[in-house]
Amino acid sequence: MSYCVHCGVELDATATFCPLCHTKVVDPGHPPDTQSPKPFPTQPGEVPPIHKGAVAGAITAMLACVAVGCGVLNLFLKPGRGWSLYVIGATILLWFWIVLPLLARGIPLLARSFINVAAVALYVYLMSVDLDGWNWYIGLAVPIILWGGAVWLLLSLMLRVYRRSVISTVTILIGSVGVFLLGVEFFIDRWLTGQWDPSWSLVVFTICLCTVIPLVIIRRIPAVREEVRRRFHT
Ligand SMILES: [Zn+2]
Repeated sequence: MSYCVHCGVELDATATFCPLCHTKVVDPGHPPDTQSPKPFPTQPGEVPPIHKGAVAGAITAMLACVAVGCGVLNLFLKPGRGWSLYVIGATILLWFWIVLPLLARGIPLLARSFINVAAVALYVYLMSVDLDGWNWYIGLAVPIILWGGAVWLLLSLMLRVYRRSVISTVTILIGSVGVFLLGVEFFIDRWLTGQWDPSWSLVVFTICLCTVIPLVIIRRIPAVREEVRRRFHT
């Protein structure tokens, strides 16, 4: 039994270095045993990398099971109502949001936005089938979904340009919410009365604007920006 001269840890007979402090083991009377197996592996173990395709396959199978299971269950349970359409729609939506990015990296932003808008539109469509709401689907839901998609696309493009700045990111996000809600009320008003009479969305928009303006000023004036950075550690 030998011990490290530096840190005193107990050494295996095969040790040429202390495993703790890496001090060389020098003992002329007892040279290290090079024949016996080492007490710990000499090669670092590596976990094989996970294949994204396998993960995508597993999630797809899981989502498909849920969708098919609910569809079959719907045939026996309250068959008059299409309640399973909500679940099926949700699984389709999740597939587009989670699995597609795993399978195909680097889909252009425009194509990705189009796919996401189509997936949301399909989900709401399935809801409208159950609720017998073709009219509100076409007259109200589709315009709002398209508007949301357009704002989302614009938001993504702007965030791509300004992603390094926290202040700019917050400014763009707040501004987008204001603009989006203004559009939502426009489409609701148009659907209900045929006239645009902005009220609640204008309040939200004004609040957003009152938040955005100081943020823009902060970003424009270097001295103020540095002061804010120092205070918030951004
Ligand atoms: Zn040691």
